[in-house]
Amino acid sequence: MSASRTVICLLRNDLRLHDNEVFHWAQRNAEHIIPLYCFDPRHYQGTHNFNFPKTGPFRLLFLLDSVKDLRATLKKRGSTLLVRQGKPEDVVGDLIKQLGSVSAVAFHEEVASEEKTVEKKLKDICCQNKVKVQTFWGSTLYHRDDLPFRHIGGLPDVYTQFRKVVEGQGRVRPVLSTPEKVKSLPLGLEEGLIPTFEGLGQTEPVMDCRSAFPCRGGETEALDRLKHYFWDTNAVASYKETRNGMMGVDYSTKFSPWLALGCISPRYIYDQIKKYEAERTANQSTYWVIFELLWRDYFKFVGLKYGDRIFNINEGRTGVPFVDANMRELALTGFMSNRGRQNVASFLTKDLGLDWRLGAEWFEYLLVDHDVCSNYGNWLYSAGIGNDPRENRKFNMIKQGLDYDNNGDYVRQWVPELGGIKGGDVHTPWTLSNSALSHAKVLLNDTYPSPIVIAPEWSRHVNNKSSGPSSAKGKRGSSYTPRQHKDRGIDFYFSKKKGF
Ligand SMILES: Cc1cc2nc3c(=O)[nH]c(=O)nc-3n(C[C@H](O)[C@H](O)[C@H](O)COP(=O)(O)OP(=O)(O)OC[C@H]3O[C@@H](n4cnc5c(N)ncnc54)[C@H](O)[C@@H]3O)c2cc1C
Repeated sequence: MSASRTVICLLRNDLRLHDNEVFHWAQRNAEHIIPLYCFDPRHYQGTHNFNFPKTGPFRLLFLLDSVKDLRATLKKRGSTLLVRQGKPEDVVGDLIKQLGSVSAVAFHEEVASEEKTVEKKLKDICCQNKVKVQTFWGSTLYHRDDLPFRHIGGLPDVYTQFRKVVEGQGRVRPVLSTPEKVKSLPLGLEEGLIPTFEGLGQTEPVMDCRSAFPCRGGETEALDRLKHYFWDTNAVASYKETRNGMMGVDYSTKFSPWLALGCISPRYIYDQIKKYEAERTANQSTYWVIFELLWRDYFKFVGLKYGDRIFNINEGRTGVPFVDANMRELALTGFMSNRGRQNVASFLTKDLGLDWRLGAEWFEYLLVDHDVCSNYGNWLYSAGIGNDPRENRKFNMIKQGLDYDNNGDYVRQWVPELGGIKGGDVHTPWTLSNSALSHAKVLLNDTYPSPIVIAPEWSRHVNNKSSGPSSAKGKRGSSYTPRQHKDRGIDFYFSKKKGF
């Protein structure tokens, strides 16, 4: 390519300058670079089956932060970020016509079908205009082309097998350098306004002070978070012990929202872990962050292997303080711990028998870290129809609640109407005596509902404190029939009203 050419760098889920092959390639191959981000109207429509808004308020806030941050970073380095509202294929087509001399369009490839359709349309537009298309793979720790399998069809269907092969034979590529100066834009282009919440038909969310993820979007914040978690607090050195936590900011890395938008590169995280291990300490915790990042890789590659099949079906239907607390945290903050997600997914699919897609689309709407492969892959896994060799695995909500929120503080934080119940009893209000409930100012089926379903295995973790209030009596030990609670379950858990 001659040096007088212009390259459009279309940014999608790679909103960063560090370790970004799109910029890296364009810096070497263009005279002018146009960094471009498009607010695609399709991302603000309803989800596929249940018509929840595709992008909820928390992720939108995080995205707007990330776009603003990237623009500011690029400005400091002699460039800027062009922002447009429109489909990328239309915007790129218009820019090509307007400039008349675009030589290439460069972008990172995605995995899921909607993103692939956009890529196909971009390629068609470029082909019609005789513009080169340069694509890259950049969202995973291990590069797609370095996987030690002959082709993606050889990807094992069990995570442990994948991990062992990759750890044994794979290699992580080094981090690409960050350009000091980014090549300038051609003259005459409008920078474009970054849309507002109102402009996108949404209302800005109010941050809940109880949030376990009180962080803002963008590459700058992502790099600060890593510095905090690794170098300032050494929290990474005890990650394996704290990672199942549910309250507070530092029980886990909280990298996922930045990873989902590409504000931080998994290779950069890996590189920093290796430095940390060399300079401070290498232990099970430092390794475990890589272990978890490999789960993320795995779900991406599963998405690559099975394509649209990750969106395929099943049926199902339920309710409980531990579940309610997690669902409220998600609705009010856009975040939920991994422990919470696993439990909620198991409860909704296995205890209630709800259609797992309902849960997946609800998560897609609300999660600040939504990543199509991780979300749909994990829901399939939890529903026992994805890559889980233990198909009958089912979480016991009461045991999990008592194991991970032993004193009930997490539940009381999100379900304040149960705040008068002391200790772990808050996980099973329906088992408390009428006098204990009235002392705690809880009126079952009035201030707080009795459980929508009671799974038989819960009885092993419930003290026989009373025969329970009359409304819940008939259900204790009864066979469990989730389907009859279908409608109530859906209303109860997926009410679009905030808080339930
Ligand atoms: C039903 C369900 C839905 C989920 N949906 C998403 C999603 O949309 N986006 C998302 O990033 N994660 C998803 N997860 C995985 C996991 O819950 C989150 O990655 C994690 O809670 C984010 O917090 P963290 O960054 O502090 O994680 P940490 O515990 O600090 O882990 C470090 C990183 O490893 C990766 N990771 C950890 N666990 C998993 C996992 N089970 N699957 C894939 N990657 C993992 C994430 O990138 C995470 O940032 C889901 C899990 C379940 C059970």
